[in-house]
Formats: sequence, C-alpha cells, structure tokens
Amino acid sequence: MNRIIKNLPPYIARMAPYMPGKPIADIARQFGLQEQQIVKLASNENPLGISPKAQEAMKKAALDLGRYPDPNGYVLKTAIAQRFAVPAPWVTLGNGSNDILEMVAHAFLAPQTNAVFSRYSFAVYDLATQAVGADAKVVADYQMGHDLPAMLAAIDKNTRVVFIANPNNPTGTFLSGAEIEAFLAKVPSHVVVVLDEAYNEYLSPEHQYDAMQMVRRYSNLLVSRSFSKAYGLAGLRVGFALAQEEITDILNRIRQPFNVNTLAQAAAAAALFDHDFLRQTYEMNQAGLQQLQDGLRALQLAFVPSYGNFLLVKFGPQSAAVNQALLASGVIVRPVDNYGLSEYLRISVGTFEENARLLQVLPDVLQKTSLTIDQGV
Ligand code: PMP
Repeated sequence: MNRIIKNLPPYIARMAPYMPGKPIADIARQFGLQEQQIVKLASNENPLGISPKAQEAMKKAALDLGRYPDPNGYVLKTAIAQRFAVPAPWVTLGNGSNDILEMVAHAFLAPQTNAVFSRYSFAVYDLATQAVGADAKVVADYQMGHDLPAMLAAIDKNTRVVFIANPNNPTGTFLSGAEIEAFLAKVPSHVVVVLDEAYNEYLSPEHQYDAMQMVRRYSNLLVSRSFSKAYGLAGLRVGFALAQEEITDILNRIRQPFNVNTLAQAAAAAALFDHDFLRQTYEMNQAGLQQLQDGLRALQLAFVPSYGNFLLVKFGPQSAAVNQALLASGVIVRPVDNYGLSEYLRISVGTFEENARLLQVLPDVLQKTSLTIDQGV
C-alpha cells in the first residue's frame, strides 16, 4: 500500500475527491430520521423528478438491457442534432456532462500545459485538470462570477483549455451572449473553450443567447449541456457536447465505447422533446427562486442573485453549524468550503413545499447557531 502511494504521480497524490451532496438515505441513517421527512436541496436536481415521456421510453428500453448500448448513440445524437440544428457528427454523448469535461481534459491537457478557469467555478474543472497533470490557472472572480478580460489575459502559450460555466455553479452568476462572443473573438484559435451550459434551461428568454451560432463560427468552441438538471435525469448520467468535427473527432478517440447506457439514451431522447415538462420545470424554478429570495430577505440573509436553480447564501462564520443544524432538522443543503466559500451554503430550489420547509426551519436554526448576520455579499 505504502509503495503504491509512494509511486503515485505527484499530481494524483495531491488530489482530493469531489464532495457530492449528501444522499437522503445517509442523513436518514445518521440522524435517525425517516427518508420521507427529509428534504434534499443539495445537488441542483429537478424537484419534479423524471419527465413522464422519459419514463415511458425507459420502460420500453428496459426490455433490451441484455445487449450493449448503441456505442454511437444514433437515436439520441439525431434527436440532439435536430433539436439544436447542428450536424449529428458535431454531437458527443457523455456519461453526464462531467464525462465531457473529463474527455476534454484527457484529450487536450497534459503536464506542462494549463487550463484557465475562474475562482468559484465548477469544482470538476480543477479536478479534471489535476488528474492529467496539467496546471490550473485560476483567475480571480469578478463579483463572484467570471472575469472574462482577466481570463483572456491569463491565456499563455501553454494554455490548451478555458472552462467557463454559464450560468456558473456554485455562484449562480451569468455572462451575456455578447460578453461570451467578445471573448471568443479574442481567444487564440489553438485554445479549446468549453462553455458549460449545464443550467442553460433555467435562463429566462431575455437572457438566452444563440450558442449554436457561436459553435458554427468558432472551431475551438465546445458547448456542453446536461440532462441532469432541467431534464430531470441526474440518476441516469447523461450529457452531451456540441462542437465542430475537429474537436468531436478527437473526443471520440478517448471516449469509452459504451459510455452512455441504454436507459439513459432512450430517456434523454424523449426528455429532449418533452416541452411541457421543461416549461413546468422552468416555471417552478422561477417561482421557487422568488419564494426563497423573499424568505431569505425576510431573515436578513444575503445571497448572490442567481440565474440557475440554486442560491448561494451567506451565513457567515456560523455556516458549518447552520449546515449541521439543518441536517438535524432533515434539510440537506450544500456546504461549499471546498470552493473557498466557507461562509456560504448553496441551496437548490425545490418544490414549493420543500422551499417552505427550509424557510420554516431556518429561523430556529439561525437562533440555535446564534448567527451574527452579515449582509455584505
Ligand atoms: N457543469 C456544471 C456547472 C455543474 O454544476 C454540473 C453538476 N453539478 C455539471 C457540469 C455536471 O453535471 P452532470 O455530469 O450531471 O451532467
């Protein structure tokens, strides 16, 4: 064992595992609660669950589970190509969009190269970069979001990848299409820009921009999307990338042959066109954000304005104690100390009842943890 550790590549030895939101079953065991009593607002999942169309599609696909999945995901790729008006050879499927991020790191990064990304952006950018021995060039945030001019200035001759999350997790900040376009116009063409749009479906119509037109214009741009959030398929693990053929061909060299399973392919192809479910999801999220923001303001808690399905809330030095007290009351939210945000907790938007439960237990929790309220986000 010792020898194994001693012989590890130093960049692997330095890594710490990803810290996921706690599963409901774990908290039920730990605090002696019933699973039904627990509200999980920790992993930005869809509180509506799975789209009915996706459920139907999975029932049919389940009959075929004795066989390997379609290695090329023909049906799903065709559906995505149709939905986003791009050629099917521009689509790469992933075991979650996490898989896409890792494929990008494996394909384009190596020791002596670097990836540029923002402080307080998605943790997997750092993990995927470290895992291949490349350097992370972390750029200071601008008001908790991406500082694109500073990120541009950070690009050097060894930069191979830039990661941008829009909206960003865990802060919920947003960059306009015009800001992204201006950035792309200046990035050297040998640098792959990953525009991670895992939360795109939560943007209101006036904030939506045409990322596909950018993919058509910039051969170094990859847009990644997730089925885990608005599409409600987090447990199936499915996401995808859209990029021109040069990048897509490279990703396919290192993609695992059967990386997206049969159920996931079938469910995702159905969910993509479940417009009713997507509309309901969007509306529920808008209403839930409003409900949570109103409730948090009433408690004089500061938060970062969010464009996603979660809120980054400032609890100050007591935030670890607040998290523990919330867990004990059966509400799971997400600590974000691993992001260097130890005074904050990230709270996903749930159903009306779930949000109400959080807001109902919070005053007591705050009192118990004798919170000193700090308003300055
Ligand atoms: N990108 C961002 C910004 C995320 O927040 C997440 C999930 N937390 C992902 C990508 C990965 O999601 P998935 O692998 O479930 O598609």
